[in-house]
Amino acid sequence: MDIFPEATNAEETLDPPDWADVGALSHRILDDAIAYLEDVRNRPVWREMPAEVRAFFGAPLPRSPAPAADVYDDVARNVMPYPMGNIHPRFWSWYMGSSNFTGALGDFLAAIQGSNLGGGNHAAALMDSQVVNWMKEMVGFPVSASGTLVSGGSMANIIGLTVARNVKAGVDVRERGVGAMPKPLRYYASDQVHSCHRKAVEALGLGNQALRRIQTDAGLRIDIAALKAAIAEDREAGFRPACVIGTAGTVNAGAVDDLRALASVAAEEDLWFHVDGCIGALIAIAPKNRSLVAGIEQADSIALDPHKWLHAPFEAGCALVRDASQHRNTFAVTPEYLESTPRGLASGEWLHDYGLQTSRGFRALKIWMALKEHGVEKFGRLIDQNIAQARHLTRLIEAEPALELMAPTTINIVSFRHRLDGASEEKLKAFNTEIMLRLQEEGIAALSDTTVQGRHCLRVAIANHRTRRDDLDLLVAEMLRLGREIAATATLM
Ligand SMILES: *Cc1c(COP(=O)(O)O)cnc(C)c1O
Repeated sequence: MDIFPEATNAEETLDPPDWADVGALSHRILDDAIAYLEDVRNRPVWREMPAEVRAFFGAPLPRSPAPAADVYDDVARNVMPYPMGNIHPRFWSWYMGSSNFTGALGDFLAAIQGSNLGGGNHAAALMDSQVVNWMKEMVGFPVSASGTLVSGGSMANIIGLTVARNVKAGVDVRERGVGAMPKPLRYYASDQVHSCHRKAVEALGLGNQALRRIQTDAGLRIDIAALKAAIAEDREAGFRPACVIGTAGTVNAGAVDDLRALASVAAEEDLWFHVDGCIGALIAIAPKNRSLVAGIEQADSIALDPHKWLHAPFEAGCALVRDASQHRNTFAVTPEYLESTPRGLASGEWLHDYGLQTSRGFRALKIWMALKEHGVEKFGRLIDQNIAQARHLTRLIEAEPALELMAPTTINIVSFRHRLDGASEEKLKAFNTEIMLRLQEEGIAALSDTTVQGRHCLRVAIANHRTRRDDLDLLVAEMLRLGREIAATATLM
């Protein structure tokens, strides 16, 4: 019997009728993509979409086919000209990386190769584990540690906080749930902690109140004495202090908690020590600044974010856990349809045993290719470069009477605002918001805003391998121009 019969045309497939046509279109897309990146600096960082572009996305479900070239033309016309802007050299909003071309090729090849990283015995699975091993090495974790690539930092933090809960619960929380815990758990973090931790403790069934926000010092770092006092108070009140979350690079102002001190507190108090290193864990590879995150290697778990300072195309986060068995014991389940076999495709370890997803994308490839191409030392230098640029901007602000620094600059985040003589806090907020919006609308630069210790400010976060110092010089000049224009004309002042 012929078990590989010749293909017939009786069945449908998604493959093209003629691969040669696909080749021509694909080459065009690739050429356009290269031109797009080459020219990125000359385009506005962001622009509003015209009404017809908005309307385009209201089109109904397509029922019949269209040529792939037409489909691409739709994308070229309606999507590519209106990006978020984070690939642009003057994008400094919130906190995100700026992607890279090799990583984009990696994403493409991952999709072509199509492997599911739930696990199995194939090359992509080995590469996934290799990239996790590289991440461990970057932050100084032992080879015996475990880890998993996830969608981003929020998921990476959930992984760490879940292992912490299960280890500290005092019952078999997987079997019996949080209701069976003898004492309610308490987690601690600074009042600058990222909002994903709130979502995490809520999703873990601990509740938002289980996350105590500890006051910060003048440098916006967690106040260690206040932390100790809160732990003592909670023990007294019948809670079980379970976990301290240190932040290596806060999202507001880039503060780095004293990780060594936190490691000692955790050891003394028998707490799980988790580090949210979504911004700053990778400073560990930056030759000039790595001492800022000393102590990170003592954590029980770390969340980091390759789609930030490694510039992996979205999405890529990574959770690391020092004790691999604690990690595995938190998530591993073997349903009957996923039992391992001694040989073949289903032999070896299932990667889905280290997190919540079953099917997983081949995220490792885009990270792997960019790391191989450039080497980790270059990524470390780029981190140092962004930190030096933030210091440059800080000096410009300090030298400019019309501008005011609002928080100390520790790493690559600068919080500041434009002054306005005699204005109330409310007016200052409106004035600075207007400057920020005009910078976006005129396509000059994308900044975001925040409130630091009760005061509104603008915020420049430079996690961008395309930014140059003259981009920051331009920012200051344009802010001063807009400040003059708005102060002279706007009724809101
Ligand atoms: C970005 C960030 C997160 C969340 O990471 P995502 O990749 O956006 O999910 C968590 N913590 C900190 C400190 C961050 O900067």
